[in-house]
Amino acid sequence: MKSNEPLKKRYEAVRARVVAAAARSGRGRDDVLLTVVTKFAAIDQIRELIELGHVDFGENRVQNLVQRAAQIEEFLERHRQLRSAKAVNIPDQVRWHMIGHIQRNKVRKVVNVARLIHSVDSLRLAEEIQLVAARRDDPIEVLLQVNTSGERTKSGVAPAAAAHLLEQIDTMLSIRPRGLMCMAPLVDDPEVVRPVFERCCELFEEISESGIGGDRFDILSMGMSNDFEVAIECGANVVRVGTAIFGQPQLPEAREESPADV
Ligand SMILES: *Cc1c(COP(=O)(O)O)cnc(C)c1O
Repeated sequence: MKSNEPLKKRYEAVRARVVAAAARSGRGRDDVLLTVVTKFAAIDQIRELIELGHVDFGENRVQNLVQRAAQIEEFLERHRQLRSAKAVNIPDQVRWHMIGHIQRNKVRKVVNVARLIHSVDSLRLAEEIQLVAARRDDPIEVLLQVNTSGERTKSGVAPAAAAHLLEQIDTMLSIRPRGLMCMAPLVDDPEVVRPVFERCCELFEEISESGIGGDRFDILSMGMSNDFEVAIECGANVVRVGTAIFGQPQLPEAREESPADV
């Protein structure tokens, strides 16, 4: 694979843009966490970013999350055994983030793998997560996904329902609510989405001031390839970026059929 060079460059460019946007909003380089969304990445590309020292990765589908986590765990285990000089940057562990909609019958798989679930969007899902997580030693950390854009196609709870739902989740012993996640509508001009992010940030601050979730209610996950800089300026401290790092996904036809096959 000889597209190595561009991937590193694109990754570093995104990191630099994250740091610059954080600085514009009065924060330091470690105040905003870049979650690299791997849904359109090849496994080699994920390994390459790990070799650069990257730790946080996100998937939006349960099956991919489970599969990739297993493949990467194998890769890390090999490196732990080898401890080669080349591997000095390689973290011992990576952290998987579940960022997509979860059906209740898949909760167990997610809880086994994910370090943070960004996409809790109903009481019933939270209850199912509690049931599964109760068998673990540590609570599982989650974000409540809110729909501050008002688009009916977007998942997430209505802003007016968020505080009450978080109060209920906060009583569940094996779930720790850490903050909010939102998604903006997909538009060409990122400035159009600024009000959506501002609204989510206001809600996040209201809820943290009310004391729900305690001191550890401190994560605001918003911003994707198209709009992560605006999101950071509005207060995001976690962004989820895929396309800006891996490029536009290829169409399935283009991926499967090489000219020789036709
Ligand atoms: C795919 C996805 C992202 C990343 O989107 P890009 O535009 O590729 O950066 C972020 N969040 C969620 C929930 C996603 O599904």
